[in-house]
Amino acid sequence: MNLTVAKTIRPAMRCVIGLATIFAPMVVAAMEHPDAARNRPAPMVRRLLDGIAARPQQPVRQELVWSGTDVDGDGAADFANPTGGMPRGHDEFGEGQFGARRDGGARSHEGVDYVAVAGQGVRAPISGYVTKIGLAYAGSPDLQFVEITNPALGYVARAFYVSPEVKVGEVVRLGEAIGRVESLQRHYPGITDHVHLEVLQPGGERVNAARLIVTKLVARA
Ligand SMILES: [Zn+2]
Repeated sequence: MNLTVAKTIRPAMRCVIGLATIFAPMVVAAMEHPDAARNRPAPMVRRLLDGIAARPQQPVRQELVWSGTDVDGDGAADFANPTGGMPRGHDEFGEGQFGARRDGGARSHEGVDYVAVAGQGVRAPISGYVTKIGLAYAGSPDLQFVEITNPALGYVARAFYVSPEVKVGEVVRLGEAIGRVESLQRHYPGITDHVHLEVLQPGGERVNAARLIVTKLVARA
């Protein structure tokens, strides 16, 4: 054996001995606990897994938002929830959805009641201009409605039980403040305060606003 070969072998041998020193205890452990060795991940893998598990998970928040239908196809909503509340459920005065029974079935509810807190702001359910401010019931000057007409879409919306902060002829944009919610407790003690919204489609027929203003889940970072 000449000097060059000896020099080449010696580092290789050192490497083999080094590897044997590292792996021998693992081999012995595996022989002593064959099942454990098979089922448990290697220490380094385990440390990696622990690291991944310990990393805080980025929470995906989902939020329920109101979304208005885009009837003219311009990519923007054409309707908005006037109070941000849910349609009124059942209370002793009935239910708030479109078509609900009124007067023992003699008539049906012609709007959708959006739950509100008396005094809160009311948002314009459609863009347009204010075409009428009137009384919900003759002889009850405190319960008024605001009518908004959108000539381009041909839709009309009436928001009832609103103290108006707009005037007839005024232009309002979708979602803009039009007034405050009036309490219904003097007229219907115990009722869920709400804004009654009527939507009239082109031609004047009343339609279910709940089909035009829907909820959708959106992810928030
Ligand atoms: Zn109603």
